[in-house]
Amino acid sequence: MGYNIRAGCRPGEAPPARWPGASLFPDRTITAPVGSVGDAGRHLMRLPERVVVGEELLGRMGEEIRELGDIRRALVVTGPNVWRIFGGSVERSLEGSGIKPTVTFANAATKEEALRIAGARGGFDLIIGLGGGRPIDVAKYAAHVSGAWFISAPTSAAHDGIASPMASLKGSDAPYSEMTSPPRAVIADISAIASSPPNLSRSGFGDLLAKITATRDWKLANLERGEYYGEYAAHLALLSARVVINNRKRIGRMSEDGVRVLVEALISAGVAAGIAGSSRPCSGSEHLISHALDLISPGKGLHGEKVGIATIVAAKLHGLNWMRIRKALEDVGAPTTFHELGISRDQACRAIVMAPSVRPDRYTIIHKLRPDYDQACSLVDELEVA
Ligand SMILES: [Zn+2]
Repeated sequence: MGYNIRAGCRPGEAPPARWPGASLFPDRTITAPVGSVGDAGRHLMRLPERVVVGEELLGRMGEEIRELGDIRRALVVTGPNVWRIFGGSVERSLEGSGIKPTVTFANAATKEEALRIAGARGGFDLIIGLGGGRPIDVAKYAAHVSGAWFISAPTSAAHDGIASPMASLKGSDAPYSEMTSPPRAVIADISAIASSPPNLSRSGFGDLLAKITATRDWKLANLERGEYYGEYAAHLALLSARVVINNRKRIGRMSEDGVRVLVEALISAGVAAGIAGSSRPCSGSEHLISHALDLISPGKGLHGEKVGIATIVAAKLHGLNWMRIRKALEDVGAPTTFHELGISRDQACRAIVMAPSVRPDRYTIIHKLRPDYDQACSLVDELEVA
């Protein structure tokens, strides 16, 4: 073994005492050099102008959008099922507010599809992403490249892309999400989201647990690589994880108040990325393992499901209390093993080994420890995540 997984450090190295494993949220004692923010300390925060969370909001979408300005023509990017369920009320609402909607379906979560939609944009004031991950990501990217406003109207709470400036699309140069622009407005209809399949919300919960290890990785990059670290953005992202852990039973039951907490936390995490000016507070080594799985075992499991399980692994590498991560996933009813997603032990081990090379420039604990195949397998066996 090249390093001691239990202590999260190589033999002869001091254990990471500044990150005691007893707590998931110990941060106050850390003092760190602050890395470069950019030219002359310039740091750009890009945030949504309007965030509306409430019940039956899709039927008020026209009124909400008119609050942004004199909007006349909107392109709605959605999916056939979502449009069949919600299309009628969205269309009536937009037309009732003097907005002419044109509807297009996002057929694939690819850059090519987003560019197709962006190319057909002529004359639209804004692009609305209505649905789950695919329409939101495609509409976000299409709006970014075409210069239109983007409105995020999620009908499920499966990931933190609802309010973030990051878009996750295949066909990119890299298998991770790309920085685009944040939504001009977020219109989150709790009634619609509460009626979505529970596994989607459990996936969103997993994507939020990831903030515990992502912010550790960010701090590590600050301490060891001098990378810019935004303390406020990191705390905001961590807060979103803390709040959903505290409300995990209600979220697991899909009660409307539980779903509201989850949605607000996902929005808050997305805003943290906007404040940071990068996905750093939201995405660390756990996301790199998940991205590696996207390549090794494509189509298996939802993003947040993979990320949630990978957070158990990343927490162990950081010397954190990984059992609390696993317990939180169990309590919410989310998967705690890759096997449940149809991913084999061998694939999980290879993903852990591959993770640092998915994004060599983004220093995390997995870049520091670089487990080999046997070490990765020992890890998944010990954590019982295979
Ligand atoms: Zn994520």
